[in-house]
Amino acid sequence: MLTFLTENSITRHLLTFGGITIVMAQLTSWHPWIAGLGTFLVLMVVMALVALRGDEKATQLLAGASATLGMGVCWIVGADLSTSQALLCSVIGTVPLLVLSLIVCQSSRHRLQKINDLESQQMELVRKLYAYDRSLCASTEIPVFGLNSSPAPARKSADLDPAFGQMLADFADAPTSPVLDPDVFDFAMLLLSMQQIGHRLSSELELNALVSAILDTAKEVLRCGQAELHLWSARDGRFTNAAPADGVPVPDSMRDVLAQSAPTPAEFEWVRNQQRILTRRDLNAGKVDAVELSGRSLPSAVAPLLVGADLIGVLVVNDASDEGPTFVRMLHILANHCALSLKNAQLFRAIDDMARRDSLTGLLNHASFLEELERLTEEAQTRGQALTVVMSDLDDFKSCNDNYGHQAGDKVLQEVAIWSKAIMPDHAVMARYGGEEFICALPGETLERGMELAEMLRAALEAHPVSHNSNRLHVTASFGVAELNRPATNASRLIRLADKALYRAKNDGRNRVEAHDPLHPKIAALDESIQFSLR
Ligand code: GH3
Ligand code: MG
Ligand code: MG
Repeated sequence: MLTFLTENSITRHLLTFGGITIVMAQLTSWHPWIAGLGTFLVLMVVMALVALRGDEKATQLLAGASATLGMGVCWIVGADLSTSQALLCSVIGTVPLLVLSLIVCQSSRHRLQKINDLESQQMELVRKLYAYDRSLCASTEIPVFGLNSSPAPARKSADLDPAFGQMLADFADAPTSPVLDPDVFDFAMLLLSMQQIGHRLSSELELNALVSAILDTAKEVLRCGQAELHLWSARDGRFTNAAPADGVPVPDSMRDVLAQSAPTPAEFEWVRNQQRILTRRDLNAGKVDAVELSGRSLPSAVAPLLVGADLIGVLVVNDASDEGPTFVRMLHILANHCALSLKNAQLFRAIDDMARRDSLTGLLNHASFLEELERLTEEAQTRGQALTVVMSDLDDFKSCNDNYGHQAGDKVLQEVAIWSKAIMPDHAVMARYGGEEFICALPGETLERGMELAEMLRAALEAHPVSHNSNRLHVTASFGVAELNRPATNASRLIRLADKALYRAKNDGRNRVEAHDPLHPKIAALDESIQFSLR
């Protein structure tokens, strides 16, 4: 208490002021009642401050001191008061103060107890974080949030970071952990989760691996049974479930199909418009103004994933074990991290796409096509499946540029790409191979099917002139087709044989499809020389 009295500036001022009051009363011979009252007043304020600190003994001591001092002052100053009168007035002043102080003291103690609990929880947290970091450093394996750039496979939450899972469990079950009011934030859990979320999500740049990591982290950190991530496309004006089958990310080609078949839930629309978290608890408690959601069975919470004002998507969590303030705060933190990580991954993908694609037509560029073809060839060889390549070259394209200008030529190249995408199957890998040369790999398709598709494209180009300004540009192309293992056994030989066939199509009069067929009488002789040169 002495430390409090000497260290606390308010009490120091009050004590000084109190002393001055007494001395002034002596010097000016104030009425003893005023002197006594001044003394009580000073002691009462000091007592209240001590009581606020929850120090019961100090409060009682001060109350006793105030009684004695008050009596002494009254007796010394008040010459016209008897001892019993002085005693009486000090007791009358002290008792209500004592009662009041003890009440304040009790309630302060309750609050101080909570603060102490939190402090001990923080200490426990620091100890565990330290132990956790040490275990990570000691581990030879890079944790889930490792810096390896190769795409991580989809993971089950049970496989994730067992050290962290164990720590969370220990932390929740620890007998030393104080039992807190459910409406109070569990700061320790928040800190632990923030660390984990940051580590897991910030270094993942591959979109599908990131989706898996987000869903696993959401389930573990928010302790919920279900988590879904729906990505928002501003261009299409709709949400798409990024992983509808129990956390397994959907291939990009499937996203459109899935999105078209599902109507947008009203709660997603609400979150998109309001740009804030919607919780079932708040809705049931009438804290959310949303008539459109009344009567709907809602998940535990829906959180918007925002980067500035840009909506990236929504995170939907259900079957949460606790939907209190800690859960909401944690969801808020997780949603912020997810939004940034997704934005990063999307930007990374866009940059990667720019590097891999031809800017004029949007098809793959030469180098990326070769990479893809290598991969497809290996796959076809291991699975024993067919693989066909169709190579094409626009006929007399130079004269098109010369007659109508290069802008017109560019328009032709773009339209050829559009026709190719429309006619070739979805699994075809198409590229702009060179200036006015295109190439298309058809996994699983035979030479005959490749020729059929090439013929369809040839006929479409011939039948549909390209409009540019007021001109109609008639475009035709020649095609060369070759199939893997007939007889080319690798990617570069396959391209060479398709090129040979294309060369033949040009020589034979253009605007036609030719295949490299070893049984073809015209190329039987050619074949010999090719095989010879490829050895
Ligand atoms: P062939 O029927 O023998 O293929 O004749 P061709 O005129 O198509 O062939 P050539 O190789 O002589 O000409 C190719 C032309 O393609 C030359 C070039 O101006 C044009 N070209 C290449 N890249 C582009 C491009 O990006 N835009 C435009 N507008 N023209 C291009
Ligand atoms: Mg050419
Ligand atoms: Mg040409």
